[in-house]
Formats: sequence, structure tokens, C-alpha cells
Amino acid sequence: PASRVASFDTDVWSIFTPLAAETKAINLGQGFMNFGPPAFVQEAAKHAIDQVESNQYSHPRGRIRLRNALAASYSPEFGRELNPETEIIVTAGANEAIFATFAGFLDEGSEVICMEPFFDQYIPNITMNGGKPVYVPLRAPADSSERTVSSHEWRLDIDELRSKITSKTKIIIINTPHNPIGKVFDEEELMAIGKVAEEHDLIILTDEVYDRLYYPPLKKFPRIASLANFWERTITVGSGGKSFAATGWRVGWLIGPEHLVKYSFAAQTRVVFCVNSPCQEAIAAGLEASLVKPIFQEQTDEYLKKRGILSAVFDKLKLPYTVPEGAYFILVNTAKISYPKDYKFPELLDSRGEDFKMCYWLTKEIGVCSIPPSEFYVKEHWPLAKDFARFAFCKTDDVLNEAVKRLEKLE
Ligand code: GLN
Repeated sequence: PASRVASFDTDVWSIFTPLAAETKAINLGQGFMNFGPPAFVQEAAKHAIDQVESNQYSHPRGRIRLRNALAASYSPEFGRELNPETEIIVTAGANEAIFATFAGFLDEGSEVICMEPFFDQYIPNITMNGGKPVYVPLRAPADSSERTVSSHEWRLDIDELRSKITSKTKIIIINTPHNPIGKVFDEEELMAIGKVAEEHDLIILTDEVYDRLYYPPLKKFPRIASLANFWERTITVGSGGKSFAATGWRVGWLIGPEHLVKYSFAAQTRVVFCVNSPCQEAIAAGLEASLVKPIFQEQTDEYLKKRGILSAVFDKLKLPYTVPEGAYFILVNTAKISYPKDYKFPELLDSRGEDFKMCYWLTKEIGVCSIPPSEFYVKEHWPLAKDFARFAFCKTDDVLNEAVKRLEKLE
């Protein structure tokens, strides 16, 4: 194998998703929905399949209907008129948007600042493109193992961030709402990060795939691209899959000034050339509807209820957790749960963080699958994650209620 992939271990998703299926556990692991996209979005996809033209290659920048819908939907969010011809690129999921951006900007040895914990895909996306991830921690409050905290209490030390910058640093990657913490960075935090980027002339890559899911009391989702002059140095990544319960469609996008997105685009044209056409039409239909109906608000109300269903059981079990301000994950402190000392774990887990064991045991014996968050830390920091498990609540209420029932057995 090429050295760029030789050291890759099996990813966490490929361990826990099959394990949940085999053991018939309720899968609150990988963040996908067990419900479909809104019916009219599904109908739009079916309709698109019936049209000759929308089964063929799309424009490599994305189908114009979707780019227009994105411009209409996001211009007010960014506080500027987005140009669908030059400032919006449709990508094969947000993941490919991120990959293409690294491919478009990193040279051998270029450094990317990543906040830890990080969404796992960033790291191979950086290294496969010759880059080097450099880590700066998001820290939980010191007493977070004793009490439930807000995701907002996880903090970035801005001087620490600044101290990580070298002459090789090219990009700072932000993830807001953050996976797995659920933190939504506020304007003050984003201003501070943006200023550091400005001081050192860095590009900001902001992964905002959960941008349509943030909870009260937050009234507005702060975007770094709309603050100060940061637009000029920012590429914002979004996701049709997250916003319309269609994670398998692989329709994402990136938005930013032409002088930046043209390089992500240059790379993406040589990787996927273009993105699957019918699903782009359907996501466009969804965004068009969101301009006239409060569908994202209604969706948020649903998710808020789901957050309530799941978090109630952790309250009941007196397990401290992080209340997410956005996205659909709850990071739970599992230190109070114990599994039998002589429990036999598969060898596969020997080389993993301690939290893999807890998540394995919970899946197999309690029947609820979660994700061990050490996957979101570098190996030296795995101990930081040893007492945590990440539970996803992007599931129908009946499934969440069944998970709650099973978890109650831990009492
Ligand atoms: N974003 C999803 C999650 O965190 C996983 C995506 C993937 O499987 N790579 O659950």
C-alpha cells in the first residue's frame, strides 16, 4: 500500500455500525437518521430520476438550480449577496468539500490547526494531501466529571492557539456546531480566532454541517464568514445530508470568495468531477421550500424534543454529560458504569482507547450502541476520552424511548 494509507486503522464507524447490526443493539453510534428526508424532498428525487437530463453529469460546480437555492438560502445568513456562479461549489458530501480544500491548499509539510477533539475524517484528509495536523485542545471545565455542563463551557485558549502557529501553518479548521461536543462558537470566540488568522494570513475552513440545528436559548447561528473581513479568508462547508436527513446522498457544498473556492474546485473536478445529479435537484427543492416554510425551525423543535428524551435517562442515571447547543450528539461521562472485570473483549480492541471497551460492552450487553470519542483525539490524548461515550439522538422517538428503557437497566 501507499504510505499515505498504510497506517490507517479500521475506523470507528466500521467497527460500531456492523457491531450494532449484528447484536441488534439500538444504534445511537454513527450519526445517521432512521427516518427519511421530508416526503416532498424524496418525491423531488424520484421526479429527477424520471427526467433524462437530470441523470447525466452535472456542471462540476453543481447544478444551477441547487446553487441558486443555496445562494437564496445562505445570502441572508452571510449578510451578503452570494454569487452562485463563482462563490458556491456543490461537493460530494461535506467530507469531499473538506478533502478538496486541503488538496487545493496544502503543500508537503503545510500545517493545519485542528481543535481537539476533532471529527476524525479531518486528519487523514490532511495527511493524504501532504499536510500535518497541529492540535489545540478544547477543554471541558475542570469539574465536568461531576456535573452536567453546557457545551459552551468547553473552551479554546486563544493564546494557546496562537502559540501553535508556525511559518508552515496554512489553515485553521473550525467545526461549529462541534462534533462530538455540540459547542456552537459565539461571535466573540469567532472574532478572536479570525483575528489570529488575520495576523498570520491563514485560511479559515469552517465545517458548519450542523448549521440548521442549534437550540434555544441560541437565536442565531454565528458564522465567522459574516464577521469583520473574515469572508475574504473563509471557506464554509455545509451539508444537504444533515439538513434534510439524507446522509447517504452525499450532497454538500462549500461557500466562499472566488479567490479561495476556485482552488477547492480545481481539486474536486479532478477527484469526483461532479456530484450525483438527481439528489442535487431534491436538495434544491428542500432549500427552496425552506424559503417559504419554517421547515428548519420545525426540524429543530423535533430535535430539541429528542435531546430531551435521551438526556433524561442520563439525568436519571446521574451520569454527567455535556448539553449540546447544536448538532445531535450527547457526550456522556460513563465513569460510574462498570462492566465485569473478567469480561472478554475482542482482540481488535486491544490497540484502542479504554472507551472502546465501554462502548462495546454497552452495545453488546445493554443493547445500545454509542461511539467511543477517543477516535476524536490523537493517541497520546486517548486517556482524556476514556470515561466518555457519544450518543446520537437523530432517531425516531420510539427508538430513543427503547434506548432509554435499555439504558435504565444500568440504574
Ligand atoms: N458525521 C457522522 C458522525 O459523526 C459520521 C460520518 C462518517 O461515518 N464518516 O456520526
